Amino acid sequence: MFVPPFGPFEPPVGLLAQQTDDYQIRRQRMVDQQLRLRGIEAPAVLAAMAKVPRHRFVPPPLARQAYEDRPLPIGYNQTISQPFIVAYMSEAARITPGAKVLEIGTGSGYQAAVLAEMAAKIYTIEIVPELARQAERTLRDLGYRNVRVRSGDGYQGWPQHAPFDAIVVTAAPERIPQPLIDQLAVHGRLIVPVGTQSEDQRMTVLTRTPGGIIEQKTFPVRFVPLTREKPKEYQPYR
Ligand code: SAH
Repeated sequence: MFVPPFGPFEPPVGLLAQQTDDYQIRRQRMVDQQLRLRGIEAPAVLAAMAKVPRHRFVPPPLARQAYEDRPLPIGYNQTISQPFIVAYMSEAARITPGAKVLEIGTGSGYQAAVLAEMAAKIYTIEIVPELARQAERTLRDLGYRNVRVRSGDGYQGWPQHAPFDAIVVTAAPERIPQPLIDQLAVHGRLIVPVGTQSEDQRMTVLTRTPGGIIEQKTFPVRFVPLTREKPKEYQPYR
């Protein structure tokens, strides 16, 4: 009987295991050096960031850079935010285990996964349908069952599931969309980078108290703009 010199292709198990360890080490280093040292303290945030495999949310050729201190391109002119920014927004949202959270700007799905580790249910909206589909697939493959992804304009929020205990917006509007403020629960927090595309965006934290809305502007940031779906009546005649 003819025995082929090489068997069918098998993945190099040892190498894969080694690579997994390697990503874990990079991830822990990211948590210690980029997050803890810069003042992120919430144990739930640090634990989530130490757990979620960020390298699975970036294009495969960029996987080795996934734990570096910067945003990375994810296609369609969009980026996955820098790890510190994801951690900051997650912490500022003061998420509790029972919380229902809305995210606007799913992108890669990474921020949604981090939130999913900390909260009960995540609703997330992405305006680029291809990104929404890809994020949904990544989240499903990783076993996140408490995230619902929808493709559409997040400006209007997701009224069917309101009110939300926290709303995290990961694209910058020039002004805070009123529908998002309206969908915030009492004691809920809205974290949003606000400003034009030039130099003046600020991370903004808005809290709904029983007495009204409190707005705090924090440090300068640079996010992609919150784009708007053109209302149907303005579409060109065909
Ligand atoms: N949170 C993402 C990063 C988002 S980048 C992550 O963890 O990877 C900002 C995203 O917001 C982009 O994917 C962009 O397409 C999306 N976006 C911009 N305007 C939007 C809108 N009006 N509604 C929903 N998503 C929007």
